[in-house]
Amino acid sequence: MTRLPLGDLRNAVVALRDGANRAPATDAADHFLLCELGEHDARTEHAAHLWANDPPSAPALWFFWTGAGTNRVHRVDAVPWCPAVLRNVATGVVRLCTYFDHHAAAHSWGVTDPLGDLLAERVVSGDGSDDA
Ligand SMILES: [Zn+2]
Ligand SMILES: [Zn+2]
Repeated sequence: MTRLPLGDLRNAVVALRDGANRAPATDAADHFLLCELGEHDARTEHAAHLWANDPPSAPALWFFWTGAGTNRVHRVDAVPWCPAVLRNVATGVVRLCTYFDHHAAAHSWGVTDPLGDLLAERVVSGDGSDDA
């Protein structure tokens, strides 16, 4: 988790969209970001999705950082989405990776999300999928 410098975000958005009026609404207070990647080594940058462009398939803004506190090094970049898709042959459901292109570690569907798993279990339980 790291603190988001709003000035950096605003500058990046302005550079991306060439117009401050298109910048996302932000509170005066600093935001805090949580790395969205799965487990990765210390040399890999942490990454948190900031803002989706319009259209959604266009490069999105990400906040990258390494280190913490005064040793933190960060950058805000517009990067293309990861092109990977996961197709469930049985259901035909296609999931898009929600990370940026060339990200480290596993695709978004391979990242363990304890809260998400818990919610999913509650939905699936009692589905009658037991083998008879
Ligand atoms: Zn991380
Ligand atoms: Zn991916």
